Amino acid sequence: MSTTSIQIPYLQHGGLSNAGRHIGKAVRASQDLAVLIVHVHEVERLCAAIGHEQAGQVLDDLYIRLRTIARDNDAVERISDRKFAVLLSGLRNRGHVTLAANKIGRLVAEVVEDSAEKIKLSTTIGIALCPQNGKDPSELMRLAEIASLDGSRKHDPVCFFEKQAATQLFSDWGLELRLEDALQSGDLEVFFQAKTCLKTNRIVGSEALMRWHEPEVGQISPDVFIELAESTGRIIDLTQFAIQSACRRLAGWQKSSPGLSVAVNVTPSIIQTREIIDVVQSATSIWGVSPESLTLEVTENALMEDREASHNVLTALRDLGARISIDDFGTGYSSLAYLKEIPADELKIDRSFVMGMDRDSGDRKIVEHSINIAKSFGLSVVAEGIENQGLLDELRRLGCDYGQGYFISRPVPADDFEKLLTGKAANPDEPA
Ligand code: C2E
Ligand code: MG
Ligand code: MG
Repeated sequence: MSTTSIQIPYLQHGGLSNAGRHIGKAVRASQDLAVLIVHVHEVERLCAAIGHEQAGQVLDDLYIRLRTIARDNDAVERISDRKFAVLLSGLRNRGHVTLAANKIGRLVAEVVEDSAEKIKLSTTIGIALCPQNGKDPSELMRLAEIASLDGSRKHDPVCFFEKQAATQLFSDWGLELRLEDALQSGDLEVFFQAKTCLKTNRIVGSEALMRWHEPEVGQISPDVFIELAESTGRIIDLTQFAIQSACRRLAGWQKSSPGLSVAVNVTPSIIQTREIIDVVQSATSIWGVSPESLTLEVTENALMEDREASHNVLTALRDLGARISIDDFGTGYSSLAYLKEIPADELKIDRSFVMGMDRDSGDRKIVEHSINIAKSFGLSVVAEGIENQGLLDELRRLGCDYGQGYFISRPVPADDFEKLLTGKAANPDEPA
Protein backbone atom coordinates (compact mmCIF):
# COMPACT_ATOMS: atom_id res chain seq x y z
CA MET A 1 0.00 0.00 0.00
CA SER A 2 2.59 2.57 -0.98
CA THR A 3 1.38 6.12 -1.44
CA THR A 4 3.27 8.77 -3.31
CA SER A 5 3.42 11.93 -1.31
CA ILE A 6 4.40 15.32 -2.64
CA GLN A 7 6.93 16.96 -0.38
CA ILE A 8 5.95 20.49 0.49
CA PRO A 9 8.55 22.69 2.07
CA TYR A 10 7.65 23.78 5.59
CA LEU A 11 9.64 24.84 8.56
CA GLN A 12 7.95 23.08 11.43
CA HIS A 13 10.12 20.59 13.28
CA GLY A 14 9.44 18.47 16.33
CA GLY A 15 5.63 18.70 16.04
CA LEU A 16 5.20 15.07 16.91
CA SER A 17 7.26 15.19 20.07
CA ASN A 18 5.66 18.51 21.10
CA ALA A 19 2.24 16.91 20.72
CA GLY A 20 3.43 13.95 22.81
CA ARG A 21 4.70 16.29 25.51
CA HIS A 22 1.45 18.22 25.59
CA ILE A 23 -0.58 15.01 25.89
CA GLY A 24 1.74 13.80 28.64
CA LYS A 25 1.18 17.06 30.52
CA ALA A 26 -2.61 16.80 30.23
CA VAL A 27 -2.51 13.15 31.36
CA ARG A 28 -0.47 14.09 34.41
CA ALA A 29 -2.91 16.88 35.23
CA SER A 30 -5.76 14.32 34.85
CA GLN A 31 -7.43 16.53 32.24
CA ASP A 32 -9.91 15.12 29.76
CA LEU A 33 -8.29 15.43 26.39
CA ALA A 34 -9.30 14.89 22.78
CA VAL A 35 -6.45 14.11 20.39
CA LEU A 36 -7.40 15.05 16.82
CA ILE A 37 -5.37 14.11 13.77
CA VAL A 38 -6.39 16.46 11.00
CA HIS A 39 -5.58 15.00 7.61
CA VAL A 40 -5.81 17.61 4.82
CA HIS A 41 -6.91 16.34 1.39
CA GLU A 42 -6.69 17.80 -2.12
CA VAL A 43 -3.16 19.03 -1.50
CA GLU A 44 -1.99 17.48 -4.79
CA ARG A 45 -4.64 19.46 -6.69
CA LEU A 46 -3.59 22.58 -4.88
CA CYS A 47 0.06 21.98 -5.84
CA ALA A 48 -0.96 21.39 -9.43
CA ALA A 49 -2.99 24.62 -9.47
CA ILE A 50 -0.69 27.04 -7.69
CA GLY A 51 2.68 25.26 -7.45
CA HIS A 52 4.46 23.64 -4.56
CA GLU A 53 5.91 26.79 -3.03
CA GLN A 54 2.57 28.55 -2.82
CA ALA A 55 0.76 25.40 -1.68
CA GLY A 56 3.34 25.12 1.07
CA GLN A 57 2.54 28.72 2.02
CA VAL A 58 -1.19 27.93 2.15
CA LEU A 59 -0.53 25.05 4.55
CA ASP A 60 1.77 27.23 6.65
CA ASP A 61 -1.03 29.82 6.84
CA LEU A 62 -3.48 27.12 7.79
CA TYR A 63 -1.21 26.04 10.64
CA ILE A 64 -1.10 29.63 11.92
CA ARG A 65 -4.90 29.95 11.70
CA LEU A 66 -5.40 26.70 13.54
CA ARG A 67 -3.12 27.96 16.29
CA THR A 68 -5.02 31.20 16.62
CA ILE A 69 -8.30 29.41 17.30
CA ALA A 70 -6.74 27.23 20.00
CA ARG A 71 -7.71 28.10 23.57
CA ASP A 72 -5.27 28.38 26.47
CA ASN A 73 -5.00 24.70 27.31
CA ASP A 74 -5.25 23.50 23.72
CA ALA A 75 -2.36 22.88 21.37
CA VAL A 76 -1.85 22.58 17.65
CA GLU A 77 1.21 20.85 16.19
CA ARG A 78 2.15 20.22 12.62
CA ILE A 79 3.19 16.60 12.32
CA SER A 80 3.75 16.30 8.58
CA ASP A 81 3.33 18.40 5.49
CA ARG A 82 -0.43 17.94 5.41
CA LYS A 83 -1.25 16.63 8.83
CA PHE A 84 -1.85 18.41 12.13
CA ALA A 85 -2.39 17.22 15.67
CA VAL A 86 -4.93 19.31 17.55
CA LEU A 87 -5.20 18.67 21.27
CA LEU A 88 -8.36 19.93 22.94
CA SER A 89 -8.67 19.81 26.69
CA GLY A 90 -11.63 20.10 28.98
CA LEU A 91 -14.35 19.24 26.45
CA ARG A 92 -17.19 17.62 28.31
CA ASN A 93 -18.53 15.09 25.84
CA ARG A 94 -18.22 13.65 22.34
CA GLY A 95 -20.78 16.15 21.06
CA HIS A 96 -18.53 19.06 22.01
CA VAL A 97 -15.52 17.36 20.44
CA THR A 98 -17.51 16.80 17.24
CA LEU A 99 -18.50 20.49 17.16
CA ALA A 100 -14.86 21.52 17.57
CA ALA A 101 -13.78 19.08 14.82
CA ASN A 102 -16.45 20.43 12.45
CA LYS A 103 -15.23 23.95 13.14
CA ILE A 104 -11.68 22.91 12.21
CA GLY A 105 -13.00 21.27 9.03
CA ARG A 106 -14.74 24.53 8.06
CA LEU A 107 -11.65 26.56 8.77
CA VAL A 108 -9.54 24.33 6.51
CA ALA A 109 -12.17 24.53 3.78
CA GLU A 110 -12.06 28.33 3.96
CA VAL A 111 -8.33 28.72 3.89
CA VAL A 112 -7.93 28.63 0.10
CA GLU A 113 -11.17 30.38 -0.68
CA ASP A 114 -9.26 33.52 0.17
CA SER A 115 -6.72 32.78 -2.55
CA ALA A 116 -7.28 33.34 -6.26
CA GLU A 117 -7.75 29.63 -7.10
CA LYS A 118 -11.00 28.41 -5.63
CA ILE A 119 -9.74 25.01 -4.59
CA LYS A 120 -11.46 23.74 -1.52
CA LEU A 121 -9.36 21.66 0.83
CA SER A 122 -11.18 18.98 2.77
CA THR A 123 -10.25 17.06 5.87
CA THR A 124 -10.64 13.78 7.62
CA ILE A 125 -10.33 14.15 11.35
CA GLY A 126 -9.58 11.13 13.50
CA ILE A 127 -10.16 11.43 17.24
CA ALA A 128 -8.90 9.52 20.27
CA LEU A 129 -10.03 10.42 23.76
CA CYS A 130 -8.04 10.44 26.96
CA PRO A 131 -8.62 8.71 29.34
CA GLN A 132 -11.31 6.61 27.55
CA ASN A 133 -8.96 5.28 24.84
CA GLY A 134 -5.78 5.35 26.91
CA LYS A 135 -3.24 7.58 28.58
CA ASP A 136 -0.08 6.91 26.64
CA PRO A 137 0.74 9.91 24.36
CA SER A 138 2.15 7.98 21.42
CA GLU A 139 -0.63 5.42 21.67
CA LEU A 140 -3.30 8.15 21.65
CA MET A 141 -1.72 9.69 18.56
CA ARG A 142 -1.68 6.29 16.91
CA LEU A 143 -5.32 5.62 17.75
CA ALA A 144 -6.33 9.03 16.40
CA GLU A 145 -4.41 8.19 13.22
CA ILE A 146 -6.29 4.90 12.93
CA ALA A 147 -9.56 6.78 13.43
CA SER A 148 -8.64 9.15 10.60
CA LEU A 149 -7.91 6.18 8.29
CA ASP A 150 -11.21 4.66 9.36
CA GLY A 151 -12.91 7.97 8.58
CA SER A 152 -11.30 8.11 5.11
CA ARG A 153 -12.51 4.59 4.41
CA LYS A 154 -16.06 5.39 5.50
CA HIS A 155 -16.03 8.87 3.91
CA ASP A 156 -16.77 10.21 7.34
CA PRO A 157 -15.01 13.57 7.87
CA VAL A 158 -15.03 13.23 11.67
CA CYS A 159 -14.41 9.81 13.14
CA PHE A 160 -13.83 8.65 16.71
CA PHE A 161 -11.53 5.72 17.44
CA GLU A 162 -13.43 2.43 17.75
CA LYS A 163 -11.53 -0.74 18.52
CA GLN A 164 -13.72 -2.91 16.33
CA ALA A 165 -13.40 -0.56 13.38
CA ALA A 166 -9.61 -0.63 13.79
CA THR A 167 -9.53 -4.43 13.59
CA GLN A 168 -11.80 -4.30 10.59
CA LEU A 169 -9.59 -1.71 8.95
CA PHE A 170 -6.50 -3.81 9.27
CA SER A 171 -8.18 -6.95 8.08
CA ASP A 172 -9.52 -5.01 5.10
CA TRP A 173 -5.97 -4.31 4.18
CA GLY A 174 -5.39 -7.98 3.88
CA LEU A 175 -3.15 -7.95 6.88
CA GLU A 176 -4.19 -11.41 7.89
CA LEU A 177 -2.62 -12.79 4.72
CA ARG A 178 0.44 -10.69 5.30
CA LEU A 179 0.62 -11.90 8.88
CA GLU A 180 0.68 -15.44 7.61
CA ASP A 181 3.54 -14.54 5.24
CA ALA A 182 5.31 -12.65 8.02
CA LEU A 183 5.51 -15.79 10.13
CA GLN A 184 7.38 -17.50 7.28
CA SER A 185 9.44 -14.59 5.96
CA GLY A 186 11.05 -13.31 9.15
CA ASP A 187 9.24 -9.95 9.17
CA LEU A 188 8.12 -10.83 12.67
CA GLU A 189 10.81 -10.35 15.24
CA VAL A 190 10.96 -10.74 18.98
CA PHE A 191 12.44 -7.84 20.92
CA PHE A 192 13.51 -8.10 24.54
CA GLN A 193 12.99 -5.63 27.35
CA ALA A 194 15.18 -5.94 30.43
CA LYS A 195 13.65 -6.79 33.78
CA THR A 196 15.89 -5.71 36.64
CA CYS A 197 16.02 -6.52 40.31
CA LEU A 198 15.37 -3.22 42.06
CA LYS A 199 17.55 -4.18 45.04
CA THR A 200 20.67 -5.08 43.06
CA ASN A 201 20.01 -3.09 39.89
CA ARG A 202 20.91 -6.16 37.83
CA ILE A 203 19.14 -7.68 34.88
CA VAL A 204 17.43 -10.87 36.00
CA GLY A 205 15.35 -11.51 32.91
CA SER A 206 13.51 -10.01 30.00
CA GLU A 207 10.08 -9.75 28.45
CA ALA A 208 9.76 -10.97 24.88
CA LEU A 209 7.75 -8.43 22.88
CA MET A 210 6.80 -9.11 19.30
CA ARG A 211 7.53 -6.61 16.53
CA TRP A 212 6.16 -6.67 13.01
CA HIS A 213 7.71 -4.52 10.37
CA GLU A 214 5.38 -4.99 7.42
CA PRO A 215 7.32 -3.98 4.29
CA GLU A 216 4.48 -1.88 2.84
CA VAL A 217 2.48 -0.75 5.86
CA GLY A 218 5.48 -0.16 8.13
CA GLN A 219 5.67 -0.86 11.83
CA ILE A 220 2.45 -2.41 13.16
CA SER A 221 1.77 -2.35 16.87
CA PRO A 222 1.44 -5.70 18.67
CA ASP A 223 -1.87 -4.48 20.11
CA VAL A 224 -3.22 -4.55 16.56
CA PHE A 225 -1.67 -7.69 15.10
CA ILE A 226 -2.13 -9.80 18.23
CA GLU A 227 -5.84 -9.06 18.11
CA LEU A 228 -5.83 -9.79 14.39
CA ALA A 229 -4.07 -13.12 14.99
CA GLU A 230 -6.57 -13.86 17.73
CA SER A 231 -9.57 -13.16 15.49
CA THR A 232 -8.16 -15.09 12.53
CA GLY A 233 -7.11 -18.21 14.41
CA ARG A 234 -3.34 -17.64 14.02
CA ILE A 235 -2.61 -16.79 17.63
CA ILE A 236 -1.24 -20.21 18.54
CA ASP A 237 1.30 -20.00 15.67
CA LEU A 238 2.35 -16.56 16.80
CA THR A 239 2.65 -17.65 20.43
CA GLN A 240 4.65 -20.68 19.38
CA PHE A 241 6.96 -18.42 17.41
CA ALA A 242 7.41 -16.10 20.42
CA ILE A 243 8.10 -18.97 22.83
CA GLN A 244 10.49 -20.73 20.45
CA SER A 245 12.40 -17.49 19.74
CA ALA A 246 12.54 -16.61 23.44
CA CYS A 247 13.80 -20.06 24.47
CA ARG A 248 16.38 -20.13 21.66
CA ARG A 249 17.83 -16.79 22.74
CA LEU A 250 17.63 -17.64 26.42
CA ALA A 251 19.59 -20.85 25.88
CA GLY A 252 22.45 -18.77 24.41
CA TRP A 253 22.36 -16.09 27.11
CA GLN A 254 22.20 -18.56 29.98
CA LYS A 255 25.69 -19.81 29.07
CA SER A 256 27.11 -16.62 30.57
CA SER A 257 24.10 -15.60 32.73
CA PRO A 258 22.72 -18.84 34.18
CA GLY A 259 20.10 -17.13 36.37
CA LEU A 260 18.39 -15.37 33.49
CA SER A 261 14.70 -15.84 32.72
CA VAL A 262 12.38 -14.79 29.92
CA ALA A 263 8.67 -13.89 29.92
CA VAL A 264 6.29 -14.37 26.99
CA ASN A 265 2.80 -12.85 26.74
CA VAL A 266 -0.14 -15.13 26.10
CA THR A 267 -3.72 -14.15 25.21
CA PRO A 268 -6.93 -15.36 26.92
CA SER A 269 -7.76 -17.90 24.22
CA ILE A 270 -4.31 -19.48 24.55
CA ILE A 271 -4.81 -20.40 28.17
CA GLN A 272 -8.16 -21.99 27.45
CA THR A 273 -6.76 -24.79 25.33
CA ARG A 274 -4.19 -27.39 26.27
CA GLU A 275 -2.11 -26.86 23.12
CA ILE A 276 0.04 -24.32 24.93
CA ILE A 277 1.27 -27.04 27.29
CA ASP A 278 2.84 -28.96 24.38
CA VAL A 279 4.26 -25.73 22.96
CA VAL A 280 6.03 -24.94 26.23
CA GLN A 281 7.18 -28.50 26.74
CA SER A 282 8.65 -28.86 23.27
CA ALA A 283 10.30 -25.38 23.12
CA THR A 284 12.01 -25.82 26.48
CA SER A 285 13.22 -29.30 25.65
CA ILE A 286 14.38 -28.42 22.09
CA TRP A 287 16.47 -25.51 23.37
CA GLY A 288 17.49 -27.18 26.60
CA VAL A 289 16.21 -24.49 28.94
CA SER A 290 14.54 -25.30 32.20
CA PRO A 291 10.79 -24.48 32.24
CA GLU A 292 11.43 -22.64 35.53
CA SER A 293 13.16 -19.91 33.56
CA LEU A 294 10.11 -19.33 31.35
CA THR A 295 7.29 -17.08 32.58
CA LEU A 296 3.94 -16.76 30.84
CA GLU A 297 2.24 -13.39 31.24
CA VAL A 298 -1.56 -13.43 31.26
CA THR A 299 -3.78 -10.44 31.85
CA GLU A 300 -6.10 -10.20 34.79
CA ASN A 301 -9.15 -10.25 32.50
CA ALA A 302 -7.89 -13.34 30.69
CA LEU A 303 -8.04 -15.20 33.98
CA MET A 304 -11.71 -14.37 34.31
CA GLU A 305 -12.72 -15.86 30.95
CA ASP A 306 -13.70 -19.51 31.26
CA ARG A 307 -12.16 -19.75 34.71
CA GLU A 308 -12.19 -23.50 34.97
CA ALA A 309 -10.44 -24.14 31.66
CA SER A 310 -7.84 -21.42 32.21
CA HIS A 311 -7.09 -22.52 35.77
CA ASN A 312 -6.57 -26.11 34.61
CA VAL A 313 -4.18 -25.05 31.87
CA LEU A 314 -2.25 -22.69 34.14
CA THR A 315 -1.97 -25.40 36.77
CA ALA A 316 -0.62 -27.83 34.17
CA LEU A 317 1.90 -25.24 33.01
CA ARG A 318 3.05 -24.69 36.57
CA ASP A 319 3.30 -28.44 37.09
CA LEU A 320 5.74 -28.42 34.19
CA GLY A 321 7.73 -25.80 36.08
CA ALA A 322 6.79 -22.68 34.09
CA ARG A 323 5.96 -19.51 36.03
CA ILE A 324 2.76 -17.47 35.66
CA SER A 325 2.61 -13.70 35.87
CA ILE A 326 -0.56 -11.58 36.11
CA ASP A 327 0.05 -8.79 33.59
CA ASP A 328 -1.49 -5.29 33.52
CA PHE A 329 -2.64 -5.72 37.11
CA GLY A 330 -5.13 -3.07 38.18
CA THR A 331 -6.73 -2.53 34.79
CA GLY A 332 -9.20 -5.42 35.04
CA TYR A 333 -12.57 -5.31 36.65
CA SER A 334 -12.31 -8.52 38.60
CA SER A 335 -12.68 -8.94 42.31
CA LEU A 336 -9.52 -9.47 44.29
CA ALA A 337 -10.93 -12.74 45.58
CA TYR A 338 -9.58 -14.48 42.47
CA LEU A 339 -6.03 -13.96 43.74
CA LYS A 340 -6.47 -16.61 46.39
CA GLU A 341 -7.25 -19.30 43.83
CA ILE A 342 -5.21 -18.28 40.83
CA PRO A 343 -2.13 -20.39 40.11
CA ALA A 344 0.29 -17.47 39.77
CA ASP A 345 3.80 -16.54 40.88
CA GLU A 346 4.08 -12.89 39.98
CA LEU A 347 2.02 -9.75 39.71
CA LYS A 348 2.88 -7.06 37.19
CA ILE A 349 1.55 -3.59 37.90
CA ASP A 350 0.19 -1.92 34.79
CA ARG A 351 2.39 0.79 33.32
CA SER A 352 -0.36 3.42 33.31
CA PHE A 353 -0.32 3.54 37.14
CA VAL A 354 3.47 3.40 37.41
CA MET A 355 4.00 6.16 34.85
CA GLY A 356 1.54 8.44 36.63
CA MET A 357 2.45 7.74 40.26
CA ASP A 358 4.81 10.68 40.69
CA ARG A 359 2.03 13.16 39.84
CA ASP A 360 -1.22 11.41 40.62
CA SER A 361 -1.82 10.40 44.22
CA GLY A 362 -4.52 7.92 43.08
CA ASP A 363 -2.04 6.12 40.81
CA ARG A 364 0.51 6.07 43.62
CA LYS A 365 -2.00 4.49 45.99
CA ILE A 366 -2.85 1.82 43.41
CA VAL A 367 0.84 1.00 43.01
CA GLU A 368 1.42 0.90 46.75
CA HIS A 369 -1.63 -1.32 47.36
CA SER A 370 -0.71 -3.61 44.47
CA ILE A 371 2.73 -4.17 46.01
CA ASN A 372 1.15 -4.96 49.37
CA ILE A 373 -1.46 -7.24 47.80
CA ALA A 374 1.26 -9.14 45.90
CA LYS A 375 3.30 -9.58 49.08
CA SER A 376 0.35 -10.75 51.10
CA PHE A 377 -0.45 -13.41 48.51
CA GLY A 378 3.20 -14.51 48.32
CA LEU A 379 3.65 -13.22 44.76
CA SER A 380 6.71 -11.38 43.52
CA VAL A 381 5.91 -7.97 42.10
CA VAL A 382 7.10 -6.18 38.97
CA ALA A 383 6.45 -2.56 38.02
CA GLU A 384 6.38 -1.83 34.29
CA GLY A 385 6.57 1.61 32.70
CA ILE A 386 9.44 3.04 34.78
CA GLU A 387 10.33 6.15 32.83
CA ASN A 388 12.58 8.07 35.20
CA GLN A 389 14.93 7.78 38.16
CA GLY A 390 12.36 9.23 40.57
CA LEU A 391 9.90 6.42 39.82
CA LEU A 392 12.65 3.84 40.19
CA ASP A 393 13.68 5.20 43.60
CA GLU A 394 10.10 5.40 44.81
CA LEU A 395 9.29 1.83 43.74
CA ARG A 396 12.41 0.63 45.49
CA ARG A 397 11.29 2.48 48.64
CA LEU A 398 7.85 0.86 48.40
CA GLY A 399 9.47 -2.59 48.32
CA CYS A 400 8.73 -3.48 44.71
CA ASP A 401 10.91 -6.42 43.68
CA TYR A 402 11.50 -5.91 39.97
CA GLY A 403 11.20 -3.18 37.37
CA GLN A 404 10.87 -2.68 33.66
CA GLY A 405 10.63 0.52 31.66
CA TYR A 406 12.16 2.88 29.16
CA PHE A 407 14.39 4.38 31.87
CA ILE A 408 16.07 1.00 32.31
CA SER A 409 15.85 -0.09 28.68
CA ARG A 410 13.37 0.01 25.82
CA PRO A 411 12.50 -3.29 24.16
CA VAL A 412 15.50 -3.97 21.87
CA PRO A 413 16.52 -6.61 19.30
CA ALA A 414 18.06 -9.76 20.77
CA ASP A 415 21.63 -8.79 19.84
CA ASP A 416 21.29 -5.43 21.58
CA PHE A 417 19.83 -7.10 24.65
CA GLU A 418 22.89 -9.33 24.72
CA LYS A 419 25.10 -6.22 24.85
CA LEU A 420 23.07 -4.90 27.78
CA LEU A 421 23.54 -8.20 29.53
CA THR A 422 27.31 -8.09 29.41
CA GLY A 423 27.12 -4.98 31.57
CA LYS A 424 24.42 -6.03 34.01
CA ALA A 425 23.97 -9.80 34.05
CA ALA A 426 22.23 -11.66 36.83
CA ASN A 427 23.90 -14.00 39.28
CA PRO A 428 22.75 -17.61 39.19
CA ASP A 429 21.45 -17.24 42.75
CA GLU A 430 19.26 -14.26 41.86
CA PRO A 431 15.96 -15.81 40.87
CA ALA A 432 13.64 -13.83 38.60
P1 C2E B 1 2.48 -5.70 27.85
O1 C2E B 1 2.72 -7.15 27.97
O2 C2E B 1 1.88 -5.01 29.03
O3 C2E B 1 3.89 -5.09 27.47
C1 C2E B 1 4.42 -3.89 27.95
C2 C2E B 1 4.29 -2.80 26.94
O4 C2E B 1 4.72 -1.59 27.56
C3 C2E B 1 5.17 -2.97 25.72
O5 C2E B 1 4.47 -2.39 24.62
C4 C2E B 1 6.37 -2.10 26.05
O6 C2E B 1 7.07 -1.64 24.93
C5 C2E B 1 5.71 -0.96 26.79
N1 C2E B 1 6.60 -0.29 27.71
C6 C2E B 1 7.60 -0.84 28.44
N2 C2E B 1 8.18 0.08 29.20
C7 C2E B 1 7.54 1.25 28.96
C8 C2E B 1 7.71 2.60 29.46
O7 C2E B 1 8.58 2.90 30.30
N3 C2E B 1 6.86 3.54 28.98
C9 C2E B 1 5.89 3.23 28.06
N4 C2E B 1 5.12 4.24 27.62
N5 C2E B 1 5.71 1.99 27.58
C10 C2E B 1 6.53 1.00 28.03
P2 C2E B 1 4.37 -3.18 23.25
O8 C2E B 1 5.66 -3.88 22.96
O9 C2E B 1 3.82 -2.22 22.27
O10 C2E B 1 3.32 -4.30 23.56
C11 C2E B 1 1.99 -3.99 23.82
C12 C2E B 1 1.23 -5.22 24.25
O11 C2E B 1 1.14 -6.15 23.15
C13 C2E B 1 1.89 -5.99 25.36
O12 C2E B 1 1.56 -5.39 26.57
C14 C2E B 1 1.29 -7.36 25.17
O13 C2E B 1 0.01 -7.42 25.76
C15 C2E B 1 1.10 -7.45 23.66
N6 C2E B 1 2.19 -8.27 23.09
C16 C2E B 1 3.42 -7.90 22.69
N7 C2E B 1 4.10 -8.97 22.21
C17 C2E B 1 3.29 -10.04 22.33
C18 C2E B 1 3.40 -11.45 22.01
O14 C2E B 1 4.42 -11.95 21.54
N8 C2E B 1 2.30 -12.23 22.26
C19 C2E B 1 1.14 -11.73 22.82
N9 C2E B 1 0.14 -12.55 23.06
N10 C2E B 1 1.02 -10.43 23.14
C20 C2E B 1 2.07 -9.59 22.90
MG1 MG C 1 3.46 -8.29 29.30
MG1 MG D 1 1.66 -5.06 30.88
